[in-house]
Amino acid sequence: MKNEVRRFLSLSQREIERDFKPGNPPYSPFFKGGDKKELSLRPDEVWPGIYRIGRLWDDYDCCVYVIDAQSELVLVDAGTCGSFNELVDDLEELGLEPKQVRTIIATHCHFDHVGSLAEFKEKFGTRVMAHKLETKAIETGEGTHAERFGLEYKPCKVDVSLEGGETLKLGQCELKIVPTPGHTPGHIACYLDLAGDEKKRILFGGDVNGPYRLPGEPRAQAIASLQRLMALKADILCEGHFGVFQPASEAERCVKFYLDLLVNG
Ligand SMILES: [Zn+2]
Ligand SMILES: [Zn+2]
Repeated sequence: MKNEVRRFLSLSQREIERDFKPGNPPYSPFFKGGDKKELSLRPDEVWPGIYRIGRLWDDYDCCVYVIDAQSELVLVDAGTCGSFNELVDDLEELGLEPKQVRTIIATHCHFDHVGSLAEFKEKFGTRVMAHKLETKAIETGEGTHAERFGLEYKPCKVDVSLEGGETLKLGQCELKIVPTPGHTPGHIACYLDLAGDEKKRILFGGDVNGPYRLPGEPRAQAIASLQRLMALKADILCEGHFGVFQPASEAERCVKFYLDLLVNG
């Protein structure tokens, strides 16, 4: 593990380029050994009104989360390039109306999270939100890394540029945006607090798993971001590639794992 940690933190930009290609899935030591999660390829209910969809085509495709905000549906991330039809099928399988997807929040600009944004916008007029530091890549394709995988990314206009710290009123829910730079400069997470008998904080963390290999000094940023996520004390963590962690102790364990890697490296 020690060597892995060292390798993880000492990668140069050239190594990043080499690593970030098909066959090298997102960094996931947390799941090595007996800890690996087997994600269902069918839509899952995370909590009443919250779902995970997407077929996870390969190791890179992300988990797409759906929030049923009563009068509208909100997606967190939009899967890899070419995933649109499956995402629509999954929504229908859950009994949800795809055209009710009014808003998609992109956690960051990588192709595996923004691949189907353009089709949602084109077919359903979906509004796209992302951090202002991610919009250029989403709108031009440059920086999504789709080309490295031979994928055709369809650029998509970002309707609302976020800065982090906003509270968004979407349908019946209030979603809070948390800036979590490190994996990308404008990476964001978001969370909502469910009221009712059993109060729950549900956190959509994006690529909590990293990798945090950008040039410059993202390490301090990434540490601060993961500490910010820890401090939220979420009851349920919806992670960007590795599914759902609950109860709170599991959510904490997942974030802490990546935080420890960065701090102790
Ligand atoms: Zn990413
Ligand atoms: Zn990702």
